[in-house]
Amino acid sequence: MDRLPIFVKLRDQACLVVGGGTVAERKVRLLARSGARITVQAPHLSAELNRMRQHKDITWVDGEYGTLNLSDFRLVIAATSDETTNQHASEDAEQAGILCNVVDNNELSNFIVPAIVDRSPVVVAIGTEGNAPVLAQRLKSKIEAWLPTRIGALASQAGRWRGLVKRRFAELSQRRRFWQVFFAGPIADHLLAGRQRAAEKLMRSQLVGNADADRPVVGEAWIVGAGPGDPGLLTVRAQQLISLADVVIYDRLVSSQILDFARKDAEFICVGKRAGAAVMSQAEINQLLVDEVREGNRVCRLKGGDPFVFGRGAEEAIALREAGLTFQIVPGISAALGCAAYAGIPLTLRGISGSVTMVSAKLDRDTDPDWPALLNSGHTLAIYMGVGSLRAISEQFQQHAIDPDLPIAMVENGTTNQQRVLHSRAATFAEDARREALQSPAMLFVGESVGKAKQLQWFEPAATTQAAAGRSAQDSIAEPWSVASDTIPELAAG
Ligand code: SAH
Repeated sequence: MDRLPIFVKLRDQACLVVGGGTVAERKVRLLARSGARITVQAPHLSAELNRMRQHKDITWVDGEYGTLNLSDFRLVIAATSDETTNQHASEDAEQAGILCNVVDNNELSNFIVPAIVDRSPVVVAIGTEGNAPVLAQRLKSKIEAWLPTRIGALASQAGRWRGLVKRRFAELSQRRRFWQVFFAGPIADHLLAGRQRAAEKLMRSQLVGNADADRPVVGEAWIVGAGPGDPGLLTVRAQQLISLADVVIYDRLVSSQILDFARKDAEFICVGKRAGAAVMSQAEINQLLVDEVREGNRVCRLKGGDPFVFGRGAEEAIALREAGLTFQIVPGISAALGCAAYAGIPLTLRGISGSVTMVSAKLDRDTDPDWPALLNSGHTLAIYMGVGSLRAISEQFQQHAIDPDLPIAMVENGTTNQQRVLHSRAATFAEDARREALQSPAMLFVGESVGKAKQLQWFEPAATTQAAAGRSAQDSIAEPWSVASDTIPELAAG
């Protein structure tokens, strides 16, 4: 290690930034966050620095570097594009015995500014001793994604409770044990989920009376949307909760790459449904969730897409609430949104489609969709669970005299490497799907804006690109069908 990472207190300390351009501006903003008293010396100021000067956030010393006495400052950052000036500042700082950073110059700097993840008071600093700043930035993004958003609030609260804990436990070893349990347990969970009152209540009950009483441990359920398939579409919150869970209860549609985010020692339970054949009934799944949480586990209930869009997440949440257990619900990208985006289908489009409806094709007498209303012009329809009901849907369309040329797209395994996009129209889609052996899971999109998809294609799933390359060009450009990459002739000819 060439340099020791330390956190320096700069509040109300005089700091100098040499230079008035955008690089200097970035450094000024950074220093401002720590409450430093900032002087900028430069012949010109950027618009933002000028604004800061007007607000008295900085003091401007007009002119080239060289007129100030560096021993008046705690540190200096040289951020000019002129090497000689930067060199002078570095030498002067050395003489004055103060800290100096020359932007992008490791040699001339006696300190370097790390990449920072700021969830104050939790601050993570990442450095590569000047070797690879871009690598530091990449690590920063990873840590940003991994660190819970409210980790700062958790740390502040722990800070406020330190005195209480100290009074409650005389021994250092007891206190250490308390904090270990605290950060791994339900109080920290409450704080990370933003449930301040619940955290305070639990904290009170743990601090009064016998803190080690054999109180039953309670777990928590997280009902989490895993998105439509591409692991990249997982939310940051979902990824964090998956990685914390003791038990992961998942549906068949959740990919193994997503399950890989879980701890290796977590228990995995698949309750997956394959069209029609459920491994477990909904009532059994509800019971399983309740039992696992009651045993004290932190249970991640992973569902395809979004838990509240044809996901039965609400039924599970109700079962948990009725059992008096706590839960969190994390939204996911629903299949309609994921498939539409990856197939280039705009769900709304100015002047063409002004509304969109998500509907389930599970034709059930009580909830039969009002097709004529849904198929109004200016509307896009996203139909879930349609593969088994295509013929019935097509009959409904005919009964209601829907325009036979209304564009329809069917997206199978959307957002994954197996994605297929089949373009058709109202008169023939059921027959076309049968011929192409459309498989579940698939989404159906109906409406004028769906016709735009051919212009907006961008996603080339690895599996179809390979398949297209193997086929002859004539086969793959057959209309009205097009597998995503086939409509790009060069690719199809492969
Ligand atoms: N809660 C989920 C929907 C579950 S219902 C969500 O919000 O997406 C299951 C139906 O979702 C499937 O029958 C299919 O119509 C659709 N679906 C889910 N994942 C899909 C995918 N990757 N590609 C196409 N359709 C998908």
